[in-house]
Amino acid sequence: MFEHIERVPGDAILGLIEAFKKDTNPQKVDLGVGVYRDENGTTPVMRAVKEAEARLLKNETTKTYIGSHGAPEYGKAVLPMVLGASSPVLEANRASATQSPGGTGALRLAADFIAAQLPDKGIWVSDPTWPNHLGIFSAAGIKLQKYPYVDADNRLDFDGMLAAIKQIPQGDVVVLHACCHNPTGFDLSQQQWQTVLDVVRERQLLPLIDFAYQGFGAGLDEDAYGVRLMAEQLDEVIITSSCSKNFGIYCERTGCLIMVAKDAEQMENVRSQVAIVARENYSNPPAHGGSIVSEILHDPELTAMWREELTEMRDRINTLRRDFVEALKPYGLAEKYACVAEQQGMFSYTGLTPEQVDRLRDEFGIYMVRSGRANVAGFSHANLPYLAKAIAAVND
Ligand code: PMP
Repeated sequence: MFEHIERVPGDAILGLIEAFKKDTNPQKVDLGVGVYRDENGTTPVMRAVKEAEARLLKNETTKTYIGSHGAPEYGKAVLPMVLGASSPVLEANRASATQSPGGTGALRLAADFIAAQLPDKGIWVSDPTWPNHLGIFSAAGIKLQKYPYVDADNRLDFDGMLAAIKQIPQGDVVVLHACCHNPTGFDLSQQQWQTVLDVVRERQLLPLIDFAYQGFGAGLDEDAYGVRLMAEQLDEVIITSSCSKNFGIYCERTGCLIMVAKDAEQMENVRSQVAIVARENYSNPPAHGGSIVSEILHDPELTAMWREELTEMRDRINTLRRDFVEALKPYGLAEKYACVAEQQGMFSYTGLTPEQVDRLRDEFGIYMVRSGRANVAGFSHANLPYLAKAIAAVND
């Protein structure tokens, strides 16, 4: 039965991890993998998470199913985090939260919902985007197309993006990254969000906003600007939120699909359909990650602790971005790579070419994907001088 099945190449990032492990260069640097790293190169468990888990262990009384929408307390914690504590959308009871296995699970729910309920609609993603967007939407059978996002000089191509969005057929879905665009790090300004909103409204498009890095760009509220603008100004918006990065609970698979509808009645209709999609995929989401998040967000002391730790992570990344450009100054390359300090979040389209990326790996043991995307959290104050020297060498 399986004779005809062909082996496909593994994920490029996984290949990179393997190659990095085998490399014996003592100065090797991993800029490939998509998780936060501290100055020591580790991905620590946040103190607030540890404390929440200790309380959960003590107080947990059952491990029964939590239902297709997940734990209600989780939804009640995530909705104000994403939409704002005094959101008119929440006031009007227009938003529904469904706990999901990570942001990926939320995206798959959204994709299946679109395929089932809006079957003739296409979906548009930025070029480039997180590669899994392509896989998830295609797997759900939705016709996928791209709009430009970066120009040949490695800058945000807002004019190109806007011109393309103006051509999208009425009613199609447009995927936007709320902040910390993966893989480029180029984000929209508030003014640009406003412009996109106008086009989305005029063309009657359905925005699907992927919010995987809330708190990693400029701040929890700042990063939500576009999400809140769209949710407040439009009748319908889909938001996929992830707690993987901002709570550092990657392996606990904790996300949320937020469906914003025109009114409470339509929201309940939509919500009932989302429950079916969830049930057909995995029945119930895993509970533990959501319990951690609600334990933290429902307790002011733990919330304060978590916010402080999140700020530390964000500040570290933003400082490293600036220090990276500073380290390139002596080589006359600060201007060429100034974009790294202007981008936001964990990832950066550095502008390094595939050939330069190959040389960095082969000659210096510096690993990143061939698109030139670097995980900025892989920088450290210890490795910046080495990185700068290596980048200068491949620019010769
Ligand atoms: N969207 C984007 C843009 C991402 O970068 C990621 C994580 N790499 C996700 C969604 C999914 O996150 P999760 O790990 O929560 O599934």
